[in-house]
Amino acid sequence: MARTRTPVVSGWFTENAPDGGGFRLLGTRCSACTAVFFPREDAFCRNPRCPGGGELAEVPLSPRGRVWSYTDGRYRPPAPYVSDPAAPWEPYTLVAVELEAEGMVVLGQAAPGVGVADLAVGMEVEVVGGVLHEDAGTTWTTWLFKPVGGAA
Ligand SMILES: [Zn+2]
Repeated sequence: MARTRTPVVSGWFTENAPDGGGFRLLGTRCSACTAVFFPREDAFCRNPRCPGGGELAEVPLSPRGRVWSYTDGRYRPPAPYVSDPAAPWEPYTLVAVELEAEGMVVLGQAAPGVGVADLAVGMEVEVVGGVLHEDAGTTWTTWLFKPVGGAA
């Protein structure tokens, strides 16, 4: 049976960016002060220096950024983290990526096969689509970061 591909968080990314750029994170930008928000802010601009009166419009974020920090999770987090205690714990790598144009740092997991030994602060990485987990009927999709040029 084919699984349905479903974003693990609705509206945070697209697999087909409107500019033809493929997979992109989605934020919102304030039309009054140009501040960009990720996770998306749809209610009101959170920039304290905003003159006000702007509207928040969805924008795809930069497809590439630079590693700001990274770490790995080798142990299962305690409750209330949701995981199947019967399943083997899969270590993962978490990357904080600075997007220069947006002036922000975005957190995400590294692509499969990319570990802390493959990363360095300042390294250029790109955002790609990936699978967080699968269950009987659903492939839960998310965003991942991988080094540009496939060095890993
Ligand atoms: Zn604003």
